[in-house]
Amino acid sequence: MIVDLRSDTVTKPTPGMLEAMMNAKIGDDVFGEDETVNELEEKSAKLFGMEAGIFCPSGTMTNQIAIKCFTQPLDELIADQTAHIYRYEGGGIAFNSAVSTRLLDGERGIITAEMIEPEINAENVHYPHTSLVALENTVNKGGGACYTIEQIKPIADLCKTKGLKLHLDGARIFNALVKTGDKAEDYGKYFDGISVCLSKGLGAPVGSVFLADKATIKYARRIRKVFGGGMRQAGFLAAAGIYALDHHVERLKVDHFHAQIIARELTKYAWVSNVLPVETNIILFDTVEPASIVLEKLAAHGIKALPTDKNRIRFVLHLDVFPEHVEHVVKVLRGI
Ligand SMILES: *Cc1c(COP(=O)(O)O)cnc(C)c1O
Repeated sequence: MIVDLRSDTVTKPTPGMLEAMMNAKIGDDVFGEDETVNELEEKSAKLFGMEAGIFCPSGTMTNQIAIKCFTQPLDELIADQTAHIYRYEGGGIAFNSAVSTRLLDGERGIITAEMIEPEINAENVHYPHTSLVALENTVNKGGGACYTIEQIKPIADLCKTKGLKLHLDGARIFNALVKTGDKAEDYGKYFDGISVCLSKGLGAPVGSVFLADKATIKYARRIRKVFGGGMRQAGFLAAAGIYALDHHVERLKVDHFHAQIIARELTKYAWVSNVLPVETNIILFDTVEPASIVLEKLAAHGIKALPTDKNRIRFVLHLDVFPEHVEHVVKVLRGI
C-alpha cells in the first residue's frame, strides 16, 4: 500500500470531477469566451465577498500577480519569515515586482498588527515605501496554523489607516474556514486581494484564482498575460475547480480528523522528540534520528513524506488518504 503524505498537491481528480471536466462548456479564455472559466471566477469571487476573480495556472502565479498589482517597483512588503511568497516562489517578489521584503518573526507564521506597525517605513527617501502586507492562511511552514477572522480584523484596520494593501495567500484558506467556522464572504471585507488554491486539498488537478475588486482584476489580466499565464480552453480545468468548490470543501474535516489520529499516535513513541500542535491537515514532527533515516524506514512501508529540516518531517493529509491508509500509517509508526 502506498500512502503519499508529501503534499496535498498529489491528489488526482475523482470520477465525478473527471466527468464534470469532460462535460465542460469551453471557449478561448484569453478572449474571455470560456463560459466555465467565467463561471468559476464569478462563483469564487462571490463566495469570498469580492467583486471579481481571475483563474490562473498556479498559486504562485496568483500571489505574484497580486504583489505586482498592489506595489510599485522600489516598494516594500511585510510578511512573516515563513511566507510562501518569500521562501518558495523563487525570489519572484524581487524579480517580478522589484519589491523588497520585510520579514517578521510570527508565532508559527501568524503575525499581529502590533508586530506589523513598527515595521512600516516612515516617508523618507532612504527607506523603501511600504505598500503591502501579506498574510498566509493556513500557514504552510507553520504546520497548518490558522488565523481567525478576529485576528485578521486589527491587521486590516491598521492597513487601512496606513494606506497599505492587504493580500491573503489562501492556498489552504478552506482548511482554515472549516477549522474556525469563519465565513468565506467575510474575508472580502478585510482583504484587497485573495489567492485561493483549487489543486491542494480541494483536489483539482490544476489552478488557483486571484480575487479582488474589478479594477485590480482588469489589471491582473494584463499581468497574467505578461507572466505567460493566459490559457485558452481552460474550461476543462475550471470545471474541476467548480466541482471542487461544490463537493470537496466540507470533507476537509476528514483530513483534519485523520491528522489528529496520526499526530496522537506520534506522541507515543520515543523516536519522536516533538509533535507540533496540529490545527488542520498538516503535521510537523521532530525525530531523534535524522529525518532522512526515518523517511527511509517509512518509505520501506510505502509511506512517502518530506523532510522540512534535518530532524523534522511533514505529513500532509488530503482527499486521496482514506481511513485504511490512516490505519496503515498507524501500524507502521508503531513498528518503527
Ligand atoms: C502551495 C502553496 C502556494 C502555491 O503553490 P503552487 O504550487 O504554485 O500552486 C502558495 N502558497 C502556499 C502557502 C502554498 O502552500
